[in-house]
Amino acid sequence: MTKTILGACPHDCPDTCSLVTTVEDGVAIKVQGNPNHPLTDGVLCTKVSRYTERTYHPERVLYPLKRVGPKGSGRFERVSWEQALRDIAARLNSIAAINPARILPYSYAGTMGLVQGESIAMRFFNLLGAARLDRTICASAGAEALTHTFGGKFGMKVQHFADSKLILIWGSNAITSSVHFWRIAQEAKRQGAKLVCIDPRRSETADKCDLHLAIKPGTDAALALSLMHQLITHDWLDHDYIAQHTMGFRGLRERALLWPPERAAQVCGLKLEDIRQLAQDYAHFQPAGIRLNYGVQRSRGGGNAVRAVACLPALTGAWRHRGGGVLLSASGHALHNAEGLQRPDLLTNPHAPLVNMSTIGDALNTPDLIEAVVVYNSNPVAVAPESAKVVKGFAREDLFTVVLEHFMTDTADHADYVLPATTQLEHWDIHNSYGHTDVVLNRPAIASLGESKTNTQIFRELSLCMGMDHPLLQEDDESLCRLALQDPRNLQSEQPVTWEQLLQHGFAHWPVAEAPFASGGFATPSGKCEFASQSLLALGQDGLPNYLPNHEPANPQAAYPLAMISPPARNFLNSSFVNVKSLRDMEGEPLLEIHPDDAASRGLQDGELVRVFNQRGSYTCKARVTTRAQPGLVVGLGIWWRKLGAEGKNVNELTSQLLTDMGRAPVFYDCAVQVAKR
Ligand code: SF4
Repeated sequence: MTKTILGACPHDCPDTCSLVTTVEDGVAIKVQGNPNHPLTDGVLCTKVSRYTERTYHPERVLYPLKRVGPKGSGRFERVSWEQALRDIAARLNSIAAINPARILPYSYAGTMGLVQGESIAMRFFNLLGAARLDRTICASAGAEALTHTFGGKFGMKVQHFADSKLILIWGSNAITSSVHFWRIAQEAKRQGAKLVCIDPRRSETADKCDLHLAIKPGTDAALALSLMHQLITHDWLDHDYIAQHTMGFRGLRERALLWPPERAAQVCGLKLEDIRQLAQDYAHFQPAGIRLNYGVQRSRGGGNAVRAVACLPALTGAWRHRGGGVLLSASGHALHNAEGLQRPDLLTNPHAPLVNMSTIGDALNTPDLIEAVVVYNSNPVAVAPESAKVVKGFAREDLFTVVLEHFMTDTADHADYVLPATTQLEHWDIHNSYGHTDVVLNRPAIASLGESKTNTQIFRELSLCMGMDHPLLQEDDESLCRLALQDPRNLQSEQPVTWEQLLQHGFAHWPVAEAPFASGGFATPSGKCEFASQSLLALGQDGLPNYLPNHEPANPQAAYPLAMISPPARNFLNSSFVNVKSLRDMEGEPLLEIHPDDAASRGLQDGELVRVFNQRGSYTCKARVTTRAQPGLVVGLGIWWRKLGAEGKNVNELTSQLLTDMGRAPVFYDCAVQVAKR
């Protein structure tokens, strides 16, 4: 019996592909891109085209496990679900009886699914009165910046980059992290568009663009302000658009005039002529689209950088055209019912501490703050910054840790109980995208493997074991999927996307205007693109975008003279897929890219083991001597599992728990290090 099932890619990637899984006699034999979904167009990235290898991986966790060795040792024994849930419920109840706010959920985008992400889980922790998690680890600086500028996470429709005459690929290695956007950019290029890549690293994408600007990390706002300087001084402005649809131009003008290209060239490490030419091209190649990505907001001034870039299309009136504007996230266009799924009204302890997931290392080492952690859809021991503190926290003998997982990750190794979770091929879900404006349904293609259960089912059963009998904790997954489609802004109206549409096609389009801000209509309080943000002023912040130097600017005279960034390796997605052998074989081993000049001055050879270190720790890996890294920059491609790296560490041993200017987000790309022979 062979059949095909439509699904959705669950991973933290803007493309949110529609999948077709072929199932033979109950076994998934291949996963392909849905040819009928225009954006997927029948193509998946290498990672997810190996999804059956991941699903049927011999090391998949298929039964509940109880720790029998020291924390971190990875020694566990199989137990029954009954025992696991009984023990977990007893421990959580005993903590909750004294102070439920000492129980912390820890979750992020291990699945982007609305149902297996934060539906029953959020209701459970809301009712329990647990600590609240500030989910900041990836995108919150950029999200806040967009909200202060446009009123939400809005942007161009990705397919309209095909109409652009100039595309700025800013802080994105699209070939690795957004391959479907890259196909659209290629289409634009075939029709004559110019592609410019702005990235500290000469990435695979930079290789294929017409121009690469190797900007210094964390200086993007300076470049954007200088582009504004040129637009203003040459009068390459759309005065009518500015007058009708923006707020705060006078202040922005004054700010931008402080940034002549000479100053930006020095701060950004770019050629003067390149900045001037870029400004001229941005003004004259219309429509111009900017594909901004999250790398830009991983430094101290990340929020300001996003705001500065986001102001550009309103100055030239690029928003008037389908192929003009900027896209960082388009998720604000989705009309799904997050409140219905998560039920914030169930919150019993609104004064419970708000714990920032980006500083989990400090939080776990704060006395009396956290007694238990329930981790799902995340691997904090590998992905959170300043690993030494994170590991120390998770190694606490008095910390009770439960991890819902597919594999024995670095975090699962530190658990008291590991509960086997289903993969995307085994459950229902609904997916929005932050890179496009479609909604995609995931149907289960196969029965759950071993004794694995869906996240929702685990929280349903755990709540019953704990005596939490609220009926909203027992809602089933298909009902949750349907609920997700109800427009929360008008529950009586006809739904913009119906369940029947999704069952039939596997995807549907949220209603979004072709050029969403052609006639203004921003979602800010003023209804305008806010160059000067009233909401930022109310927070006591600078209302205008500005350049904020890094917490740890590269300084050749300093003890740690090199800037380090740690973008994703091509065949991994954050820490997912690192244990898939065919993908790991393609990556080889943990590497540090270093420029030939910096290698020579340290006597380092290509391929030799090096020690990368700073005041927070040290990490050993192989040097790759390459001009992909500019002088003064090293690139630690991530995110390797610690236990698969040399000496059981990864690049986050070096990153800090300092935060961004907006969104309380981590500064992974704002990190000074030194490199030496091992
Ligand atoms: S990771 Fe991205 S490109 Fe790859 S299948 Fe998933 S959504 Fe598509």
